[in-house]
Amino acid sequence: MSRPLPGTRIRAPHADLRDVLISEGPPLVLDGAMGTELLRRGVPTPLPLWSAPALAEHADIVESIHRDYVSAGCHLVSTNTFRTSWYLMARHNPDAWETWNRRAVQLARNAAGDRAWVLGSITTLEDCYRPDLVPEVLELQHYHRRQIDLLVELGVDGLLLETFNTVRELDAAFDAAAGYDLPVLASVVLRDATHLYDGTPLAGLIQWARRARPDVLCVNCASPETLDGAVRWLREHLDVPVGAYANVGRSGGEMGFVFTRAYSPGDYARWCVRWTRLGVRVIGGCCGTTPDHMRAAASAVRHARRGNEVRTQS
Ligand SMILES: [Zn+2]
Repeated sequence: MSRPLPGTRIRAPHADLRDVLISEGPPLVLDGAMGTELLRRGVPTPLPLWSAPALAEHADIVESIHRDYVSAGCHLVSTNTFRTSWYLMARHNPDAWETWNRRAVQLARNAAGDRAWVLGSITTLEDCYRPDLVPEVLELQHYHRRQIDLLVELGVDGLLLETFNTVRELDAAFDAAAGYDLPVLASVVLRDATHLYDGTPLAGLIQWARRARPDVLCVNCASPETLDGAVRWLREHLDVPVGAYANVGRSGGEMGFVFTRAYSPGDYARWCVRWTRLGVRVIGGCCGTTPDHMRAAASAVRHARRGNEVRTQS
């Protein structure tokens, strides 16, 4: 299979995602936020289902957000399934579980066409910022397996386990995902540059990744400054591909997010270039990022020289 050259367009169905992830080309660009982008476009996102009811009431807006990210140059489109787990839906809207997940995959696929891969998004069963609520391991295994089985059946190209706040829950979800021959991107939310949100030192995450071998280990939903420190550390100590996607606002409020204007698209693109020079394989955007942020980032990293700065210095 031919490898894409730096700066060339990556055609999703014509290349194996795993081949591209380990190639020497520019990083793959994951899409930006869905939940906060719905909110920015006037769709309410009340917790706990947050972005999920939009699948029933504003499917056209969900699809147009996906389309805007693909037009912006994103290679990886994540399904709007962040809050459609069976664990949550069984409590709040059991009859819609399969329909909403099916629609989420379809909307992402419609937008991706032959230009992007579709990743099934899965997060913590409970709130991403409440590691104290993480259920026991048998419950974790049961609910993550059920959700992953459905997303795979619905035809995703890979899985994005994102915003996990404990290694314990990440491991349970990863176990279910690893049963399929699909690329798995595993991502954790950070408390600071050297700790997961539950306080586990990054060394504990590295130990896990050396054993589990996800296709990419990412850090997400913290400020660019926080992720920057973590990316350096992971690149120094881990031989698994690394990815990063930061938030550019802050969590809180009734809708789960408060917008700030701290990072323009150009500011965010500069952080993405910096991570590209550190050798990340995937960049993207988390809460608060928009298609404009991702267009700037995608364009900047396409021409950025991918480096190995950390390793050559050590
Ligand atoms: Zn986020």
